[in-house]
Amino acid sequence: MSVILGGCATQTDKKPAGVGTYPADECLSCEAIMPRSVPITYLILHHTAAPLPSALEILRGKDPQHKVGIHYLVSDETVPRVFKLASEEFSTSHAGRSKWLSVKSMNQASIGIEIVNLDGNTQLYPKAQIAKVISVSLDIIKRHNIPATNVLAHSDIAIGRKVDPGSNFPWKLLAESGVGAWPDDADVARFKILYTKNIPSNSELFEMFKTYGYRPENSETKTIKSTVEAFQRHFRTSKVNGEADAETVAILAALNFKYRKK
Ligand SMILES: [Zn+2]
Repeated sequence: MSVILGGCATQTDKKPAGVGTYPADECLSCEAIMPRSVPITYLILHHTAAPLPSALEILRGKDPQHKVGIHYLVSDETVPRVFKLASEEFSTSHAGRSKWLSVKSMNQASIGIEIVNLDGNTQLYPKAQIAKVISVSLDIIKRHNIPATNVLAHSDIAIGRKVDPGSNFPWKLLAESGVGAWPDDADVARFKILYTKNIPSNSELFEMFKTYGYRPENSETKTIKSTVEAFQRHFRTSKVNGEADAETVAILAALNFKYRKK
């Protein structure tokens, strides 16, 4: 008797050591896949901005005008399902124009997960769906040894262009479950005292963002505002207004202190 481990295997599922797959509930083919040229070091999360049927249609990459694809999709059904659309050994077109640290286009270095939600900035994510996202993410992170700071929102890597998975996405809960980065409260409190007296200039903020990984094009007020907004969508979701207030800057400083200390 042959047992296929790791969910629905497809013809493209060669399984070199350390790659493998999440045991998905459903497997569909995606036509927008490319060979990888670099190892997998990032996990990027998205919301679909479309209901399940049309999201599946789009993400299978069948539209020649919009060659997009994704590795996994988590549905918003009462009992959410995980769809696998592309084998992890391939890269898919989910990030578009994107940057983080020294990586210029994130598709090659990443695995992407789409989460069905029409707009994660206005619509809530059901608990059961988030539990599935955590399960898929933990599995990917462990198999590829992805660092906490390399689990990112599409909005983190495409500043001013993308807003997903949105400010309702519970990043703190994910971090508590072992998925992604989160600052320590004591560090935030300490830095907040410092920055309440003195908000850094745009060029100082530019450097702080770059230290963490964000890639604003320049230190002009408009660009910094977009970067602050992207940052708040991930790390200070109670108020996403693009304003570098003391709390926002303190969170950024606390993240750099925790993860980027030399
Ligand atoms: Zn996206």
